[in-house]
Amino acid sequence: MQAQPTASHFIGGKYIEDTSGALIESRYPATNEVIAQVHAGTEAIVAQAIEAADTGFQQWRTSTPAQRAAVLNKAAQIMQERNRELSQLETLDTGKPLQETLVADAASGAEALAYFASIAATMTGQHIALGNSFALVKPEPLGICVGIGAWNYPIQIAAWKAAPCLAAGNAMIFKPSEMTPLTALKLAEIFKEAGLPDGVFNVVQGAGETGAALVSHPRVAKVSLTGSVPTGTKVAQLAAAGLKPATLELGGKSPLIVFADADLDNAVGAAMNANFYSTGQICSNGTRVFVESSVKAAFLEKLVARTKAIKLGNPMDESVQLGPLVSAAQLARVQEYIDIGKQEGAQLVYGGARAEPSGFANGNYIEPTIFADVQDDMRIAREEIFGPVMSVLAFESEEEVVKRANATGFGLAAGVFAGDLQRGLRVVDALDAGTCWVNNYNLTPVEMPFGGYKDSGIGRENGLAAIQHYSQSKSILVELGDVEAGW
Ligand code: NAD
Repeated sequence: MQAQPTASHFIGGKYIEDTSGALIESRYPATNEVIAQVHAGTEAIVAQAIEAADTGFQQWRTSTPAQRAAVLNKAAQIMQERNRELSQLETLDTGKPLQETLVADAASGAEALAYFASIAATMTGQHIALGNSFALVKPEPLGICVGIGAWNYPIQIAAWKAAPCLAAGNAMIFKPSEMTPLTALKLAEIFKEAGLPDGVFNVVQGAGETGAALVSHPRVAKVSLTGSVPTGTKVAQLAAAGLKPATLELGGKSPLIVFADADLDNAVGAAMNANFYSTGQICSNGTRVFVESSVKAAFLEKLVARTKAIKLGNPMDESVQLGPLVSAAQLARVQEYIDIGKQEGAQLVYGGARAEPSGFANGNYIEPTIFADVQDDMRIAREEIFGPVMSVLAFESEEEVVKRANATGFGLAAGVFAGDLQRGLRVVDALDAGTCWVNNYNLTPVEMPFGGYKDSGIGRENGLAAIQHYSQSKSILVELGDVEAGW
């Protein structure tokens, strides 16, 4: 299978190659075959991207909100029309089943473009009457923004960052994860076809070094990263050195709390979504499933029965529900955590082994895995695994579970399942998490701000909140009378 792009980078409206950059291989995680090769952005490529983005920005900043909305809407439409083709490419790059990529990746990216197209026109300023003078407050773009993506939702992350950035009149240089370099280039092609001026959206490939060079570049005004907490710390430090604002969407170890009066079938379904969707490679996953003791046995029985029925295999087969992990390294990491869980004394109630579906023996497959009797101090309950490994923990009281759920440095997301809605809302109020769900889990509509508390991040993607991160206000006082000088 081949998915070789025209060239590595997309800068100033065209594909650019520079083979002197380090080689990056994209592998199909279901077979580990190399499907594409690109090169990391060198210093020269970064410089070229900055020049192109500056040229694009100077033109784009003078466009009207309606013109910006038209381009974003057109891009959303093209993305929707090409959803299948984009989803197949995303499946090749990430290994996520086509059943998921068809509905959750480019489709969600297109929604963000359409949503921020509608927001662009609402970005008006203020008039403040001041007697013999008045003030105008106008929103202005920041300039060149850098977006850096993780590998779990490559085109979605690129579109979620580009949409508010471009709607507010900025230019973007996007660096996809080196694990998944392909679909961001397609987004760049789509923007060009939709009429975006050259240089307003650019893609530069590379790993951490290229990302760091972009973040540190003196002509970059803002950074938005989706990645792990350690990378977030490094990017925040680099951004701080240049006094640049940074939006950080980082990792999590989120709690999902199930009270005894909850609809157990719904709670089980949500726990599965919260741990097995995208083979568990989702930042907001509810990987600590706290179940009230009196229903723990019933919960586990239903959970195991439904987990046994999960269809694992060929990601391109639309009936397949679980694909491989993104890389052999990620598989090794997840296997190590499963071993740690066993050694720590958690009870392995389902899965735990490598899977070798027929025809895909070389893929990075692992069985969906459930641990019960997990204790708060075990590493599998404290550290982000980023694989399909669920920890079930028992609790007795509301007060106790809130305290335990909050006893983590992370604060990305949380879910509560309760028949008593007052209790559900009370508990959600007490949880230290930026994105919460009551009686559901992991829904991220573009209208709703998404982001974390504590170590899970700074700032928000999506919703009205996101556009604020890509805009600054200029206050202008206009004098209608004479200047009163004291001398
Ligand atoms: P990662 O931190 O290894 O890499 C993320 C991106 O940062 C990559 O593009 C990488 O090349 C780049 N990078 C690495 N070092 C850098 C540096 N020093 N300067 C600039 N850029 C650098 O993360 P990953 O393994 O790709 O993704 C998994 C992580 O991302 C998990 O922790 C997950 O929770 C998190 N994530 C968070 C969200 C969210 O919205 N909160 C969404 C998806 C993934």
